[in-house]
Amino acid sequence: MDITVAYFHQLFQPEVVKRDFEKIRATGAGSIVYALHEQEGQRWSRDLERGLRQAQDAGLKVYVSLAGYGNLFAGPLQMPSWYTFRHPQSRVKDRHGRSHGVSCFNHEDFRSWLFNEIEYYLSTYPIDGILLDEPRGPDITCFCSVCRALCPDITDLQHFRRRSMIDFFSELFGRVKRVKKEAKTSLVLLPQDLGMIDELAQMPHLDILGCHLFWQLLGEDVSKVEEWGRVVVEAARRYEKRSQLWLQNYNLDEEGEKSLATSFDGLLKAEPDAVACYYFWRNNVNPEHVWEKTRTLLRRIPRRQLYWQPTLSSIPAYRAPVGEEKAI
Ligand SMILES: [Zn+2]
Repeated sequence: MDITVAYFHQLFQPEVVKRDFEKIRATGAGSIVYALHEQEGQRWSRDLERGLRQAQDAGLKVYVSLAGYGNLFAGPLQMPSWYTFRHPQSRVKDRHGRSHGVSCFNHEDFRSWLFNEIEYYLSTYPIDGILLDEPRGPDITCFCSVCRALCPDITDLQHFRRRSMIDFFSELFGRVKRVKKEAKTSLVLLPQDLGMIDELAQMPHLDILGCHLFWQLLGEDVSKVEEWGRVVVEAARRYEKRSQLWLQNYNLDEEGEKSLATSFDGLLKAEPDAVACYYFWRNNVNPEHVWEKTRTLLRRIPRRQLYWQPTLSSIPAYRAPVGEEKAI
């Protein structure tokens, strides 16, 4: 079972970053998720390059989340998309002509800007995969001029929105594979979007299907964790994708902390291919406790399951010379 840890921290202090990545690696994690915001490549490209390289040097694969791009995806900072702000014509328009604060994914300029960004980051920085974090569902039917031109039948616009969203993600993931064949693609949903899971899981260039099982934040009972988890794992299996279930180890008070073990058990009962959680993420009453508890829970994953090996491959596995293997 793989372990992924989201690292939503600055990369400016190499010594701190090195120590953090060593701690993350020591949990048995094989990858991190780093949230990339629109300005990072322009304003702190050196820090980004060095920080992501440090993760790889520590034995961690790097997944980059397109945080807040076009306001279509979630991200750690509540910062509006610079692109959407500067290109108001790209915004979604509802049936009353009101503009919403999110770019329409059918807008050609937005699409080509986003795909060029992906291409630039993948070909410039040490990145092993792209992750889409809680993408906005087709909640608002868009009546912008582009959508109207693509779907002249107004009565079909609502369905068109859903179809074109799948088309947009498919093209995005296809673009990732074209730029870097070995790069992985990942989509992480909120439980309220699980109704679309079959359509999403069928996308040919999608590798990992995940879900944020944030029961406490969503005001649900902890038993929901296993229920949601099973939906994701089963859909992933149906379409031969890997499943990834996220533990809510943030925003916890003392009571929430007590339920961490219960939610982790529910998550494991769903038998996912991967577990994911956060490294010192926001708003815990006892941040140190929560991380210590998270580490203890991750240790419950049997060590022999930590490294998944394909058994049908005829390509001999690379063996690191003695002394080069990283300690875990
Ligand atoms: Zn539109």
